[in-house]
Amino acid sequence: MAIATINPATGETLKIFEPLSDAQVKSAVYTADEAFCDYRNTSFPQRAKWMYKAADILEKDKAEFAKVMTLEMGKPFQSAVAEVEKCALVCRYYADKAADFLRDVYIETDASQSFVKYQPLGVILAVMPWNFPFWQVFRFVAPALMAGNVGLLKHASNVPQCALAIENIIQQAGFPQGVFQSLLISSDKVANLIADERVKAATLTGSEGAGASLAAAAGKHIKKTVLELGGSDPFIVLASADLEAAAITGTKARMLNNGQSCIAAKRFIVAEAVADKFEKLLLEQFQKLKVGDPMKEDTNIGPLATADILKELDEQVQKSLSSGAKVLLGGKPLLNMKGNYYPPTILTDIPVDSPTAKEEFFGPVAMLFRIKNIDEAIKLANDTPFGLGASAWTNDTEEQQYLISEIEAGAVFINGLVKSDPRMPFGGIKLSGYGRELSIQGIHEFVNVKTVWVK
Ligand code: NAP
Repeated sequence: MAIATINPATGETLKIFEPLSDAQVKSAVYTADEAFCDYRNTSFPQRAKWMYKAADILEKDKAEFAKVMTLEMGKPFQSAVAEVEKCALVCRYYADKAADFLRDVYIETDASQSFVKYQPLGVILAVMPWNFPFWQVFRFVAPALMAGNVGLLKHASNVPQCALAIENIIQQAGFPQGVFQSLLISSDKVANLIADERVKAATLTGSEGAGASLAAAAGKHIKKTVLELGGSDPFIVLASADLEAAAITGTKARMLNNGQSCIAAKRFIVAEAVADKFEKLLLEQFQKLKVGDPMKEDTNIGPLATADILKELDEQVQKSLSSGAKVLLGGKPLLNMKGNYYPPTILTDIPVDSPTAKEEFFGPVAMLFRIKNIDEAIKLANDTPFGLGASAWTNDTEEQQYLISEIEAGAVFINGLVKSDPRMPFGGIKLSGYGRELSIQGIHEFVNVKTVWVK
């Protein structure tokens, strides 16, 4: 895949980037490793000062950064602005908390003194996707750099200007040279990078295929990995739920980022008793959405990020229809519009054993299933290879507890939208990956947990 900015709203190629040569990649790893020698000894207050400055830069120039995101991957401009603001939040969160999260923890044993000490690992490689091109990177950068690690980023090939802008922010914030570098390389260079003895660990956010390939390369060299992969999150609506609120939030949850979010609500699982009413409410919400130029303020849904994603989504929908599903709304690419546009779509009557019922639809397509009772809802919710998030709607507290206990996912949100929050761990189980980002758990992923015992 060429490393290039191609405007998904027009299909126009705006800029092509020459990938780094092998010698340039080697030199970047050398610089990172050298930088680590001094950076690991910087103090928390010093790192925090740089991290606060990064947050200030993000906030000051948020419109400029948002524009780059929208241009490269098509998310509505207003949500791109909100994404930059969230990056500033995560920078400040770890600047505030890192020293506390990583302080020595004393434990009483037979020693005169025994404790756990957290130390940085060194150069960490981050392989990141295009869908939240700033947020995914900052939720890695903020804890990694605050812990004293240094970062190398291999960003998705369709967001090179975002990658370079982030490198520039870190430099402008005052972090020492080499502490964070963006490498414009193709994915086939990743395995070699991991094999480099100076790269100590890696994290990948993206598809299962990419995750498996990175983990296999890391496994060969016994290196720690964190994987944040796909999801086919259920959105369960039971009879006692506030249906109107569920339909409004469900629409947001499905359409976030033009439907291209790992934690989007992808499978609506609704109790028979309220299914007709909920379906009508959801349809009303979907029909209100405006598809169009992502730079315009009143646009709810912009283009899909690439022409390939549009093609894949169309094929998935067609496959679902040929297995017996019906279209309640949408269902075909908007070929009359220039760019990768797909309309808000609702599929019903999907046979639960059809292959697409378990797949991730990465676009504005909702699948609607009907169930008889809570056990059937849980069974269907868990009947997917993924386990990222789940949203469940009921006002019955016993049902809430049962859902929290039985749903197989890294997160369960009751009567709310699944979202990431710097204060709470984020990650999945099953094919959605392993390890956690954000919160105290996130900063503990890439440190040596050193046991110290003094007689
Ligand atoms: P992708 O194709 O897997 O790409 C993600 C990153 O991995 C890109 O930088 C890509 O580089 C690289 N890559 C691809 N194949 C690779 C390989 N064999 N070895 C090493 N690196 C490789 O995923 P995507 O289509 O961009 O993103 C969509 C997926 O990400 C969805 O499944 C979504 O659910 C998931 N996602 C998960 C989370 C989460 O937190 N769990 C968040 C966002 C997205 P190139 O661009 O150069 O191919």
